[in-house]
Amino acid sequence: MKPVRVRFAPSPTGALHIGGVRTAIYNYLLAKQTNGTMILRIEDTDQTRFVPGAEEYILKALEWVGIKIDEGVGVGGPHAPYRQSERKSIYHQYAQQLLADGNAYYAFDTEDELEAMRNRLKAAGSSNQQYSATTRMMMDNSLTLPESEVQRKLESGHPYVIRLKVPDSEEIHLHDLIRGEVNVHTSQIDDKVLMKSDGMPTYHLANVVDDYLMQITHVIRGEEWLPSAPLHVLLYRFLGWEKQMPQFAHLPLLLKPDGNGKLSKRDADKAGFPLFPLNWIDPTSGELSKGFRESGYLPDALLNFLAFLGWNPGTEQEIFSLQELTAAFSVDRIGKAGARFDIHKAQWFNQQYLKNKSNEALAAYLLAALPPGATCTPNKAEKICGLLKDRVTFTHDFALQAQFFFEAPTAYDQHVVSKRWNDDAIKVLTAYSHALSSLTGLTAEVAKTTLENVTATLGIGTGKILQALRVAISGAASGPDLMVSMEILGAPEVAARINRALSTLPKV
Ligand code: GLU
Repeated sequence: MKPVRVRFAPSPTGALHIGGVRTAIYNYLLAKQTNGTMILRIEDTDQTRFVPGAEEYILKALEWVGIKIDEGVGVGGPHAPYRQSERKSIYHQYAQQLLADGNAYYAFDTEDELEAMRNRLKAAGSSNQQYSATTRMMMDNSLTLPESEVQRKLESGHPYVIRLKVPDSEEIHLHDLIRGEVNVHTSQIDDKVLMKSDGMPTYHLANVVDDYLMQITHVIRGEEWLPSAPLHVLLYRFLGWEKQMPQFAHLPLLLKPDGNGKLSKRDADKAGFPLFPLNWIDPTSGELSKGFRESGYLPDALLNFLAFLGWNPGTEQEIFSLQELTAAFSVDRIGKAGARFDIHKAQWFNQQYLKNKSNEALAAYLLAALPPGATCTPNKAEKICGLLKDRVTFTHDFALQAQFFFEAPTAYDQHVVSKRWNDDAIKVLTAYSHALSSLTGLTAEVAKTTLENVTATLGIGTGKILQALRVAISGAASGPDLMVSMEILGAPEVAARINRALSTLPKV
């Protein structure tokens, strides 16, 4: 495939939704696969929805997930600026071209007049109350007013918008790479505003102009933009750019975990899982929404999980590195049907990725989350992570499950104590603690053979006292491999913990 030029074009209206991250991933995979270019364009023409901090958030989130921008905001490039609010004059020029060619017109209607039109149509029983081919001739615009009046209004600074003049009766065709042929009749399309009264373009005009000027070859975006696509086709035609029109691919929706309806922030909050890649504090309400990162997910696991929400490789393989995804990805294998957002699957991916990471990489998560005052060498942290990595789901689980390596137990599992803290256990543990105090280094192997020697001498089965030993050392009924745990704790600490249990726990 020829190198593509794709863009991720979020609006800085808040935190980047996880669906947006998936859109960015698909764009990125196609760009990498073809040695193409991944562009980040910030679509900030709607000043009323601008949220401070959102752009920085988007940049940070993409970086965390591992998406590298080749051209765009934060990087620069030959088509700069990439922030639409800084490209006003460019849009203005194309709006003028549309006006001059009779494909757009000035509209002077006030909010009240628009409201009155809608009410009139509603009262007359019309199902469609839009500003369109059927209504435009009843309104206050450059198609209905004498030219002198239009000039007078423009010169006197009367507020106006520029609207697209959608053809009356025509079928618009477009080919979507995921959905196939899409046909929409122009009676379904209203005369969309292209330039607003504040002098800013709307999404539609800015998006089409920029995709053309930035030589975008593929527009990969969420399904919610499919209804806008026919309008964009019209704009390409009116601007004389039909031959350069990008290919469209509208991605399937992300559905609630039960598959019923579109996934929303409320669903995620209710079920207690994140929907944003990173923590986000709403600047108005101060409300904190937890991110996947802060909830203990690894970026590569999240990327792998998201890539599978709508796409599949057609094989049984599920674990894909970024390189593997890049090689295997194809837009043809993206489905039309909505993709169920199964958070358990995300957790499964996270477990697989944690298991496959080097102990050295995982040690950083443990060291960063140690309880205050705890000290730990990198070597010890690596050993603990190696021991725990088959047992964790989230990065913070290391610190939680490793707690007993840093603090001796202050409480003991009552169930185990009541069943297992018997004469045999006390005899074995007393002798074992004694044997340990004469050892200098302790390996898992030595811990095991020493214990077996003690139990053999006393004629007590090792299996019968293991739970008592575990509870003496960790306080808990279950946990990671006991012999390796003792190796990490070291002989003096193990002996001290056994002695403390022997002096505190009542015998059964
Ligand atoms: N600014 C739009 C958004 O926020 C971009 C849609 C598109 O990719 O065309 O999703």
